[in-house]
Amino acid sequence: MYAGLTRTPCCLCAREETYTRIAVPPRAITLMKNGDPIAWRDVVDTVTLRFCREDWELVRDLAIEMDTHPLSRCNAAYVSFDLREDHEALLSATKEATDQTALEATLEARAEETLDAAEDPHTEERDVVEAIIVLCALEELGLRGRDGSTREASASEEPRP
Ligand SMILES: [Zn+2]
Repeated sequence: MYAGLTRTPCCLCAREETYTRIAVPPRAITLMKNGDPIAWRDVVDTVTLRFCREDWELVRDLAIEMDTHPLSRCNAAYVSFDLREDHEALLSATKEATDQTALEATLEARAEETLDAAEDPHTEERDVVEAIIVLCALEELGLRGRDGSTREASASEEPRP
């Protein structure tokens, strides 16, 4: 069973030396190149994408200036993740597919927090880029509707007057 790579190259150009990395929800694999054969429902925790310095500049510009994500150009063969089978042996977990919605909600909430604090000098640009990519991906996956259905109730976010 393919268990994913632990030390992956740049997911855009396959260069071995990478500069930084980001974490995205497993379902985002479906937006990537070569993502189809990967059982994203069995992925435990987040998927890690690494980028070389040059590609990171591109990814950063896409996110910050164009509010979009690079996932369709990322090669799923070059990302790292843990498949559930590995953990199952250790934890003797049940056979149900991993419920990804809790993780997705956590990542979404964390990304929103990061963007709310984007002007804070302690907020790192990498975190802002990661947050934009996570939210764009969730939106493209239909998990982040304008109706706020995936959000927790938040008084300030309610559209009512
Ligand atoms: Zn690269």
